[in-house]
Amino acid sequence: MAEMEKDLNINKIVGQHIEMERFFTGFSLKCRSETLEAQEQENNMDVAEKAAELKKITEEVHECRKCELGSLRTNTVPGEGNPNARIMFIGEAPGADEDAQGRPFVGRAGQLLDKVIQACGLKRSDVFIGNILKCRPPENRDPRAEEIISCLPYLQRQIEIIDPEIIVALGAHAARTLLNTTKSIGQLRGQFHEYYAGIGRPPVKLMATYHTAYLLRNYSQENRRRVWEDMKKVLAELGLPIPQ
Ligand code: URA
Repeated sequence: MAEMEKDLNINKIVGQHIEMERFFTGFSLKCRSETLEAQEQENNMDVAEKAAELKKITEEVHECRKCELGSLRTNTVPGEGNPNARIMFIGEAPGADEDAQGRPFVGRAGQLLDKVIQACGLKRSDVFIGNILKCRPPENRDPRAEEIISCLPYLQRQIEIIDPEIIVALGAHAARTLLNTTKSIGQLRGQFHEYYAGIGRPPVKLMATYHTAYLLRNYSQENRRRVWEDMKKVLAELGLPIPQ
């Protein structure tokens, strides 16, 4: 099957699943009168509570066998960073280095992401870094629809707990999954979109940009400039100084 056609099919299946889950979650939540109150309390967790909730997810991910990647991994890569992060960077899936270390973005693409974060005047410990998939697909193949469907709830819960002001989706897979769209990364990058964060919660601003692995493969001045332009918009939106 042509790559483009395969992508469209995966997005359709994942999209249908997300829509269905939202519908039924919305329905069951609407049945509870205390929903909004509970939601507000959840939104106001302090950092220790957030860290404890994130740890629970990490432990669940360690035990996860929902898809075949569970039996192929060396380590799970649940994501890491500041429980109070204002920015969450979300990639596609762990690669070989991440699988070996159990940490996200520690290979070459990760080193470039570190540079992007530093160029923004930030430290890795200021932000949260995660992926759509928590286990490495063999040979770094593209995530499959059933893997995304199994794994996405972990990330959705991490986003809910951290409650970031901005999500930076790195690359087409992260951006399309989180925005439930089949548009190309070229169409999506450079502007803010809205990530649906659940019933009773305001949407989270999402900036899509090129994945650092793509940047490494296509290391032109133009592509680096594009990523920097995207990040400048993120910093401006957060009211942070833009390093010159
Ligand atoms: N690429 C990703 O998408 N995620 C990682 O953690 C590393 C490389």
